[in-house]
Amino acid sequence: MQTSKANQEFQSDFLSVSEARNAIANLIASSYESSAMHLRTETLPLHQCLNRILASDILSPIDVPAHDNSAMDGYAFDSSELRDDRQNIELTIIGTVHAGQTDLPSISPGECIKIMTGALMPATCNTVVPQEFTKTLSNGLMSFSRSIVHAGENRRLQGEDLQSGKAAILQGRILHPADLGLAASLGIHKLEVYERTKVAILSSGNELCDIHDSLVPGKIYDSNRYNLRACIERLGMEVIDCGIVRDTPDDLRKSFTMAAQKADVIISSGGVSVGEADFTKQMMEELGEVGFWKIAMRPGRPMAFGSLKPSSNKPTPTVFFGLPGNPVAVMVTFYQFVRNALLQLNGAKRFEIPLIPVRSAAGIRKKSGRTEFQRGIVFQNPQGQWMVKTTGSQGAGILRSMSEANCFIILHHDQGNIEPGDWVDVEIFDGLL
Ligand code: AMP
Ligand code: MG
Repeated sequence: MQTSKANQEFQSDFLSVSEARNAIANLIASSYESSAMHLRTETLPLHQCLNRILASDILSPIDVPAHDNSAMDGYAFDSSELRDDRQNIELTIIGTVHAGQTDLPSISPGECIKIMTGALMPATCNTVVPQEFTKTLSNGLMSFSRSIVHAGENRRLQGEDLQSGKAAILQGRILHPADLGLAASLGIHKLEVYERTKVAILSSGNELCDIHDSLVPGKIYDSNRYNLRACIERLGMEVIDCGIVRDTPDDLRKSFTMAAQKADVIISSGGVSVGEADFTKQMMEELGEVGFWKIAMRPGRPMAFGSLKPSSNKPTPTVFFGLPGNPVAVMVTFYQFVRNALLQLNGAKRFEIPLIPVRSAAGIRKKSGRTEFQRGIVFQNPQGQWMVKTTGSQGAGILRSMSEANCFIILHHDQGNIEPGDWVDVEIFDGLL
């Protein structure tokens, strides 16, 4: 793996967020994206495919709809009845067609048939007048105004949504509930998806204490592995928990070597700040090519990225992300850098998170020359307008701010102070699908 950008290290200027993103995307694309290891596939039943990444296009085996059918409850007839010289059309009702019915009567001139939504259109009919625009007369006739319907209306044509043989869902799609429904509507009960990327997580720091142990003075609970695990599992990927690692070269070497044998990607947190990193850096030089970056952002300034060398047990390199230790910085760097890289590695396409402009309820102080990811709450003001406010104090260690937030407020590199009522970009945490 080429890491010229990655290895610019401490003496270099700060990288901007977009430079760091591009460097990661390029390194992954050139070194891993097409490698067989990351793109092994498996075939799974449809109900197990949520959040998995589609490995080959789903071609529709059928026309959708499979036959011409009615889009409305109403009366079906042939459009030749809509002659210009008649203001009011009267037709004889000769029966009813229900959805699912396959024995269809034929209609002669002057006749119509009552038809339900989704019912097959009899061959001699091409138009439906919705029931609410019609009057039934006592002598078995139905009447409606000529102007209410045009030839061919309220009929769904065979193959209108999708034609047999055409792609319904493209390779690289992250499968959402609607995709599974769409596959089911085509009678497809299993899908070829990429095997889940295996991601090893570990927390480094002598101060860290496992949540099952009792806290002694000077220690803090390790929360990062729980954030990270959940973030990764939400992406549908497999987590290998490598626990807490003490900050010694031997412990780190052992843990990273073991993790690299089992995982496609390693994500560690802590130990990349100046000082500590000199030491991690030395160890990383031995195990692979890892660059230590300072990024012009807040929170999450230091980050390491690169790859660990292949070994006899694992013939491909392992992607490595060394995230900062502060819990908020972990989540910010995960969503701003790691998420896309993991999806890219797992074969996904089109996974950008949209930036949505929302008015800021209050002023926000911001220094130009770095990107800030503030924790925000999008809310509805008493006038019913959606606005955004920060969660308050934005310290990188205040995990409660992430927990209370429902969005990141993204203050871009060149942006300065925000005045009340200014538009700011937000990234909403939860998506519907
Ligand atoms: P570091 O990047 O190792 O200097 O850590 C920065 C801050 O994050 C320090 O206050 C650490 O105690 C804290 N920290 C590091 N790792 C974790 C973790 N796994 N869980 C919670 N806090 C952490
Ligand atoms: Mg540390």
